[in-house]
Amino acid sequence: MKYTAVLVPGDGIGPEVATAACEILAAAGAPIEWIQCTAGVAALEAGEKQLLPLATIEAIRKHRVALKGPCTTPVGGGFSSVNVAMRKTLDLYGAVRPVRSLNGVKTRFDDVDIVVVRENTEGLYAGIENEITKGVVTSLKVATHAACMRIADFAFRYAVHRKRKKVSVFHKANIMKLSDGMFIRCAREVHDEKYQAIEYEELIIDAACMRLVQDPTRFDVLLMENLYGDVLSDLCAGLVGGLGVVPGANLGENAAIFEAVHGSAPDIAGKGIANPLAITMSAVMMLNYISETHSDTALAATASRIRAAYDRALVEGCKTRDLGGSLSTKEFTHAVISRL
Ligand code: ATP
Repeated sequence: MKYTAVLVPGDGIGPEVATAACEILAAAGAPIEWIQCTAGVAALEAGEKQLLPLATIEAIRKHRVALKGPCTTPVGGGFSSVNVAMRKTLDLYGAVRPVRSLNGVKTRFDDVDIVVVRENTEGLYAGIENEITKGVVTSLKVATHAACMRIADFAFRYAVHRKRKKVSVFHKANIMKLSDGMFIRCAREVHDEKYQAIEYEELIIDAACMRLVQDPTRFDVLLMENLYGDVLSDLCAGLVGGLGVVPGANLGENAAIFEAVHGSAPDIAGKGIANPLAITMSAVMMLNYISETHSDTALAATASRIRAAYDRALVEGCKTRDLGGSLSTKEFTHAVISRL
């Protein structure tokens, strides 16, 4: 069986790490045929008129699965996030970011195993801002009952499917009584109606952050709205070695985009030192997703071989600089390939 997936290398370190991931998949014999598309600044540089070309969206709609590198988002002005636009356009409402300790990557805690589930389509990330008069700006936080209900159901379904025990909702409903208030009421309702076998708790996000850095092992699945999910994903990444080791999936009813949690890291782009592990882990998630969709156990075995190879590479001390090692992107890629 052969599968087609869309590859969007993105900007900054995106093309370097995406190439590495594709090399590892090819060496493992993963039967993926890539349709290469552009997005972000890379799209403009390739002669496209838009940051998010229609052809890219249509290719993902058609083939339903994509592996994507990060697209650069300018800070404090300029164009809006292409990453966010893609998720919204394709209605990829559920972001899943598994954060687990890796043998060989020494951090304060050895046994972190958390999954951040982030609502991907609304909240302050709606990016609706107005300067109502000079020096006065409003930023609108959007919450809809429908989106709160579906992300809650998504998180509990995920927990059941992955044999997880607990869902913790992080919120600030003491201050944002309407928006976050609705978010927790929906989560509670979905839990009480359909998922009582899963343990459930609600935590105010500031105190939750403190508990997370004091003892991440008490957490399992974390459910939160868009902006909190963005921030907490990086916090959780810091618990297990940083942005170089946390993968992600953006899932909807009709398509899925797999991408690392990290951004385009312009400070190290083009230097050949970026860690390709996060996008490689995302590619492994993609293979598992395809294997589950098509009941393809051979593909699941290929995904496991890749995971075992990078786990072994790390244990044997093969690491890029962000993890305290000295390997280049290419050297680490070859270290993984030689252990397949
Ligand atoms: P965004 O706003 O797009 O989410 P960000 O502000 O989270 O981006 P990143 O680009 O993700 O920023 O990365 C922050 C820093 O972490 C980078 O500047 C880089 O030094 C480091 N970093 C991120 N990803 C990697 C990686 N794959 N390998 C090595 N270092 C990385």
